[in-house]
Amino acid sequence: MPELPEVETVMRGLEPVWLGQRLDGVILHRPNLRRPFPQDLGQRLTGAVIMRLHRRAKYGLMDTDRGDTLIIHLGMSGRMRVDPDTIGKHDHVVFTTGNGRTVAFNDARRFGSLDLVSSADLAAHPLIAGIGPEPLGPEFGLGLLERAFSGRMAPAKALLLDQRLVAGLGNIYVCESLFRAGIHPATPGSHVPRPRLKALAAVIPAVLAEAIAAGGSSLRDHAAPDGTLGYFQTGFHVYGREGAPCTACGTPVARIVQSARSSFFCPSCQRGRG
Ligand code: ZN
Repeated sequence: MPELPEVETVMRGLEPVWLGQRLDGVILHRPNLRRPFPQDLGQRLTGAVIMRLHRRAKYGLMDTDRGDTLIIHLGMSGRMRVDPDTIGKHDHVVFTTGNGRTVAFNDARRFGSLDLVSSADLAAHPLIAGIGPEPLGPEFGLGLLERAFSGRMAPAKALLLDQRLVAGLGNIYVCESLFRAGIHPATPGSHVPRPRLKALAAVIPAVLAEAIAAGGSSLRDHAAPDGTLGYFQTGFHVYGREGAPCTACGTPVARIVQSARSSFFCPSCQRGRG
């Protein structure tokens, strides 16, 4: 599932294709994904010039010169296919621009969405309102984690996944960050010792920045034959590695289920449970 680094990579990958270009065509091959598309989506985007591509949490954002912002949610399986040879059945929305490029929003599982709002109202949109600070932004740091964790009996894993406390963190990068900070995912927030919390404040932006860098190099190295933006392989220490040796100590990586999602961790390196 695309997380913050994947969305960031997609938006950066779209910049050379889309930035400053006029949208000549926006073709909807179905009326909805997870939710109905806005009725006037094609009308409001066609003829508009793409002024800025950016991201908030796990949402890609495209600003146009008409004062609109397209909110792109990749969901579980969404990706952007740049200049595809053929338009397939999962290419639900196809954008063409004045430079002769084609971008298809492809989403096999259809958990993604496209929303269009006035840029001035973006912060109040239900998907965006109430989301916490960006982990790569200036507000993130030890102070924020202390406020989020103090007095809380919820597990560290759940607190980091709470989008109201920190934006954009998902299962993969929370598992990886807790590993590097040496915190057991089930540790109640208020029980995480300050030095570990300090480590966590440093590790979260580092893990995300590394993943974004890996995504950037995957764009440069393969420029994926079919031009697909959205996925890249990166080396995980614990995520998806149940039973494999911990990269730090050799102990088999363990898996527990928290809130119906798998948490991967090293029982030796990550302490403080309960
Ligand atoms: Zn270990």
